[in-house]
Amino acid sequence: MSVLIIAEYQQSCLDEATLHAVSAAQQLGEIDILIAGHNVAGIAAQAQQISGVRKVLLADAPDYAQILAEAVAPLVVQLADSYDHIIAAATCFGKNLLPRVAALLDCAPVSDVVAIIDSQTFVHPIYAGNALQTVRSEQSKQLLTIRTTAFALAESAGGQAAIESVATVPVPELSRFIERKLTKSDHPELTTAKVVVSGGRGLGSAENFAALLNPLADTLNAAIGASRAAVDAGYAPNDYQVGQTGKVVAPELYIAIGISGAIQHLAGMKDSKVIVAINKDADAPIFNVADYALVADLNTAVPELLEQLKALGH
Ligand code: FAD
Repeated sequence: MSVLIIAEYQQSCLDEATLHAVSAAQQLGEIDILIAGHNVAGIAAQAQQISGVRKVLLADAPDYAQILAEAVAPLVVQLADSYDHIIAAATCFGKNLLPRVAALLDCAPVSDVVAIIDSQTFVHPIYAGNALQTVRSEQSKQLLTIRTTAFALAESAGGQAAIESVATVPVPELSRFIERKLTKSDHPELTTAKVVVSGGRGLGSAENFAALLNPLADTLNAAIGASRAAVDAGYAPNDYQVGQTGKVVAPELYIAIGISGAIQHLAGMKDSKVIVAINKDADAPIFNVADYALVADLNTAVPELLEQLKALGH
């Protein structure tokens, strides 16, 4: 069996999502990694070091500079014949790319896989994470997105994969890149942070959201997350959203502040190791999943928590 992983990277650094995908693929067969981009030899060199990788396929061309799904999908299709499995992480990038590849190959993808039973049998969440479904796919080729938090990180060193250049494919002129707006943040990245401080509609305003959560996140070296209601109300940017239609996180510590705990929010954070919830409503559903529950007004509880942390030397 052979597996093709579509790598993800930011600027000059391979994403950890790719290491999680490699770890999942190790259960399936020999692993090749595709790096598509422009001037990405450095990324290929990083991928080459990953333990357990056979080959790095390098598609280096100006057409792939923005790694648009529309451009990369035909490239993956061209390579697909040699592989039994094609895998991407269930990130914004992977969720955008893989369904396009699946449609072009006329295959049904299995999304957000959390466990691999055998080469055709996979477990993934359904109903916003309220049930786990085991599916057996009889197709000759399996296309999977994997949930990164469900698979360990593969070793990023020790490998000696060969790098092979692959021919580029004409890019369909259906869409074009205009601009990329990135949120600048001094905090760790949400999906890989060990601690996440997350705020909901209970914060009441964008000013209060920033005034209460930023110092707490700074003190704990935490990423900041948000409920969809907080994002919709303009308290936080869209890419802070945790949940069914946002990011899935599983940090060591998740602090939910002024978040009710709707199932769509829980779908994105309930696998966190320790969950702390601060809410003034003792019946809020977030308390059903919380390890530590504080029924209190967040406007007094958060500054008090910060004071206590500072007193402890944080
Ligand atoms: P609310 O439900 O309004 O809760 C606010 C909480 O703050 C309450 O529990 C209240 O008691 C508490 N509070 C208020 N004031 C204070 C105070 N002073 N001190 C302490 N506590 C206080 N939601 C997501 O989060 N992520 C998703 O990805 C997502 N995807 C969705 C997809 C679909 C298809 C649908 C239909 C919904 C989705 N939602 C998602 C929305 C979800 O259903 C909820 O509406 C949302 O999570 C509620 O956000 P919230 O908890 O911040 O707001």
